[in-house]
Amino acid sequence: MALNVGVIGTGMIGQDHIRRLTRVLAGATVTAVTDIDRDRAGSAAPEGAEVFDTPQNLIRSDNVDAVVICSWGPAHEEQLLDCIAAGKPVFCEKPLVTSEAAALRVIEAEVAYGRRLVQVGFMRRFDADYRRLKAVIDRGMLGAPLMYKSVHRNASVPEGLYTSDMPLNDTLVHDADISRWLLSDEIRGVEVRLPRRSTRGGELRDPTIVLLHMTSGVIVDVEISVNIAYGYDIRGEVSCEMGIAALPNRPATVITDAHGIRQAIPEDWRERFIEAYDQEFREWIVAAGNGTATGPSTWDGYAATLTGDAALRAVASGGFEAISMIDKPDLYGAAAASAAA
Ligand code: NAP
Repeated sequence: MALNVGVIGTGMIGQDHIRRLTRVLAGATVTAVTDIDRDRAGSAAPEGAEVFDTPQNLIRSDNVDAVVICSWGPAHEEQLLDCIAAGKPVFCEKPLVTSEAAALRVIEAEVAYGRRLVQVGFMRRFDADYRRLKAVIDRGMLGAPLMYKSVHRNASVPEGLYTSDMPLNDTLVHDADISRWLLSDEIRGVEVRLPRRSTRGGELRDPTIVLLHMTSGVIVDVEISVNIAYGYDIRGEVSCEMGIAALPNRPATVITDAHGIRQAIPEDWRERFIEAYDQEFREWIVAAGNGTATGPSTWDGYAATLTGDAALRAVASGGFEAISMIDKPDLYGAAAASAAA
């Protein structure tokens, strides 16, 4: 029997997930949608789906088995808590929430419920290239990891909507999460370096270099560039004691013409991670159908939130900012960042 899914927030990624749940993947039916903009929800609703006035009514509907949250970050906490109160599995796009206090409230509610219900949208963990990279590190064939370089480049961001804090409290969450997951480690502190500013972004502080200090001593060097012009370019390279493991260049058609020999690069995250998003939802549908969640957890969302907060403090202080986490509840497993599935 198909999983009946309600989608909250039918903007850019909400519409993409509705498309994937409706036209690409088996096992789920989008039966309900809601958005602050009711007309937007109405036009995004697949045939037969009910348009709800509020997220609360959608979450409580008997016609909704599981929920996908694609609203903006500050709305996530209330919607997550409502899903947990209703005992419904929920996929929540990153960021989990926008403050440490909010993350702790979601952890408390889920732990009190007694079963994992929340999966956070860290889709890189479902990307085949990242999974192969992790397998090489986990096998230990190159010895212990020493350094990791994570490159996160966006062609552009919406003018005026994207502030100078967002590379650190919005974009960095993906690099923070993938670092913890790849290295099976936690982040103990953060430094930020601000190189020469690109003039392409007006007042935007861009690019940014973030150093993530892992508890093992590994240092992760994250480059965030959000106005790089040429495309969406994600790279990762782990330096180990006896070798280097890196994400491969994405295979793409080689074009030869009067301008030379070249390969296209993805325009944005939708193109680069299309298969990862599909796999992320394939695994979510199975877990939600069993009344639970696997994959990136509330704990992982909490860790990413703390990292963003520490990075913002590091800009202000110019130095190292430590991260202090609560003891990990048993619900989230023993490993620092458990495997995607
Ligand atoms: P978006 O295009 O602005 O869409 C968000 C939608 O949610 C808008 O229609 C918005 O309405 C609506 N909304 C906001 N608050 C709401 C609430 N309380 N209840 C119901 N609807 C609400 O943004 P987006 O790019 O799709 O991003 C949505 C979320 O996905 C964000 O958390 C973002 O960080 C995340 N995201 C993740 C990835 C990834 O790689 N995993 C990529 C892109 C986005 P209004 O416009 O009227 O406010």
